[in-house]
Amino acid sequence: MKSYLLLLLILITNAGFSQTTKTKRVILIGVDGMSPDGINNANTPYMDALVNGGSSTFTARAVLPTSSSPNWASMIMGAGPDQHGVTSNSWEPNKQTIKLECTGKKGNGKNSEMWPTIYGLLREQKTNSKIFCFHDWWDYGRLVEPGVCDKKKGPGLYGLIFQKGNKRAINRAKRIVKKKDFDFIFVHLDHVDHAGHHDGHGTPEYYKAVEYADILIGEVIQTVKDAGIEEETIIMVTADHGGIGKGHGGNTPEEVNIPWILKGPDISPGHKVNDEVNTYDTAHTLARIFALETPACWIGKCIDEIFID
Ligand SMILES: [Zn+2]
Ligand SMILES: [Zn+2]
Repeated sequence: MKSYLLLLLILITNAGFSQTTKTKRVILIGVDGMSPDGINNANTPYMDALVNGGSSTFTARAVLPTSSSPNWASMIMGAGPDQHGVTSNSWEPNKQTIKLECTGKKGNGKNSEMWPTIYGLLREQKTNSKIFCFHDWWDYGRLVEPGVCDKKKGPGLYGLIFQKGNKRAINRAKRIVKKKDFDFIFVHLDHVDHAGHHDGHGTPEYYKAVEYADILIGEVIQTVKDAGIEEETIIMVTADHGGIGKGHGGNTPEEVNIPWILKGPDISPGHKVNDEVNTYDTAHTLARIFALETPACWIGKCIDEIFID
């Protein structure tokens, strides 16, 4: 009897998120303002390797308006601004004007008074999960239910003053990866959006910024390899929106189209996604990877075709 129990325990602990998947961990790197054009025209060997070895589309879609908050929110909240109420960058949790059909929970189990995110779902349904969020743009932090992450860190004063929040976020993620003690790490990088506003999308400076994002992504990939967890880790790269001229917020393809790339143990290699992907499908797709029940109020879908069954 005892040995049966032990066997069962071994099976469960080795099973990852569910008994049918090899994946035990996910790292999602979100690059603010990085358009498919940016990846296509910059030298991006690391992202190219993710595309070639994984499943991807360069015509995934942001929500309108193509501003940062509505899009980061939609990505993690499995719904659009009409549902979750994050309609602009001036949104604050206590300034919710749209009546919410459902709400999530804070880390302490109390009502978050916010639309549920993938972070909150993971915390609620798999309470022992190790969840980390390192964001280069300060305002990202308010989109996540309070207390659901083990660590949630913004750029800090140093990062803000010296514009080093991107490197800081990556270094923080690398430290966690080395310890191999995580289920979900989210990293937000902001400098590509800065280049878009400062120099313009499609300029050499913009492509240079995309190349630096690629170098940082490469550092994470290498750290995952060095830690010996490549076979159990999905790495995902996406963006909130693209841009045109020196801005974004409108509805041109340049602003709306975003890259959507996943590579890892359960992901079909070299697969170009046929399905229409909206940024809010990211939350559903992550929920499948983590084997979580999704709330009925989420409107997106899981992109099932990327998985090796
Ligand atoms: Zn943005
Ligand atoms: Zn911007």
